[in-house]
Amino acid sequence: MTATRPILYDSHMHTPLCKHATGEPERYAQTALDRGLAGIVITCHNPLPDRISHAVRMAPEQWDEYVDMVDRARDAYAGRVDVRLGIEADYMPGLEPFLEKQLADDRLHHVLGSIHPFLGVWWERFASDPLAKQRAYFDQLAYVAETGLFDTLSHPDLVKNTTADHWDLDRIMPDICRALDRIARTDTAMELNTSGLQKVIPEFNPGAAILEEIRQRDIPIVLGSDSHVPQRVGDQFVEALDLLASLGFDSVSFFLERTRQTVTIDDARRSLATVQET
Ligand SMILES: [Zn+2]
Ligand SMILES: [Zn+2]
Repeated sequence: MTATRPILYDSHMHTPLCKHATGEPERYAQTALDRGLAGIVITCHNPLPDRISHAVRMAPEQWDEYVDMVDRARDAYAGRVDVRLGIEADYMPGLEPFLEKQLADDRLHHVLGSIHPFLGVWWERFASDPLAKQRAYFDQLAYVAETGLFDTLSHPDLVKNTTADHWDLDRIMPDICRALDRIARTDTAMELNTSGLQKVIPEFNPGAAILEEIRQRDIPIVLGSDSHVPQRVGDQFVEALDLLASLGFDSVSFFLERTRQTVTIDDARRSLATVQET
């Protein structure tokens, strides 16, 4: 078997600054090294104004501390794992001016746009109407892509886990397809988030049927583990690549300097396997 150098990045993971993740970025980099990844993008939860959900994210005044923390890991792993600075930015209606300013920081390599449908007053409106919540989620997801503020939509069917008892894919698919049509007209990629296996509905976010619709529209896919512990970096990436290949995808993407890079699934798969199968 010919050795293949690492080429793939894990583009979604956290730091202790969000108060619900453990391990310094150096430990995430070490797992990446062990699993044959070329690099990682640290994407902790962004600070928001007015102490919105401050219990699960860094404070605005910790931004520099965050940048320094990622810099430290980048220096420590230089030449072994490429450690980059990114952010997972929550979208909520009305935050556009705030996010525009925050996300203009030119040190960022990858910006995830996230809707966490359990956060924020906007979602309280749908507490008693799960179907309306699902519809609003996918409509908003398309809007998030249309803002042009984000590189990648993270875990883009997360609402299934917050309305699991009412998740009927056939019923919601027309809404999803309408959203995907809109997303396909933007430059925004979508994430295949492997942490979904640990959630209420234990499958990737998004699941295979939605991934199939994404492929039909040629929307780029970015792989993320959404690690909140170091040992999950690159978790289930081989399985994710195999699933994508079985659906007819031939490449995956990641962002460096806010610019999309693409590698073939065959090359990515081989680069991981040389480490994991020896
Ligand atoms: Zn988190
Ligand atoms: Zn995340």
